[in-house]
Amino acid sequence: MSHSKIPNGYRTITRDDGIFKEEIHDTYQLKSKLAEPTVCSQCQAVYHQGRWQWIAAPANAYQGICPACHRIRDDYPAGYLILQGAFFLEHRDEIMHIVNNHEKHQRVEHPLKRIMKIEENTDSTLITTTDIHLVRGMGEAIHHAYQGNLEFHYNHDENRLRVHWDR
Ligand SMILES: [Zn+2]
Repeated sequence: MSHSKIPNGYRTITRDDGIFKEEIHDTYQLKSKLAEPTVCSQCQAVYHQGRWQWIAAPANAYQGICPACHRIRDDYPAGYLILQGAFFLEHRDEIMHIVNNHEKHQRVEHPLKRIMKIEENTDSTLITTTDIHLVRGMGEAIHHAYQGNLEFHYNHDENRLRVHWDR
């Protein structure tokens, strides 16, 4: 049984939902139709061959802002991961280690996949990210290690994903 409240505009989806395979039309990516190469003035990621990469910026690169830094600046996350439950509270450090490690590995290849904020509350932790696939992967990594109850709630209009893990 689900204990989590589904916010307005969100629907429950499975981990195999088609949205994870589709090319998502992220407004933050569409907003920036960029000339190539463009270097992000915040994080130095470089837009090259149609995607953002961690490469050295050519001397003639245009200046811009990448979708991840744009979201961070607007404080507008794409992904939310909510962790709670008695087991979580007892194993908070190990579980947060999985979360941070997952981001660290993803980020090497995908400059737009980043943690925005980690908010620790007494009975839960909220992690916000710049990308929906990142919170899905974190949720699955935790579930793989510790089982528990994993749910996905997706808001199609905003292309936002809330992942809820509870044990
Ligand atoms: Zn950037």
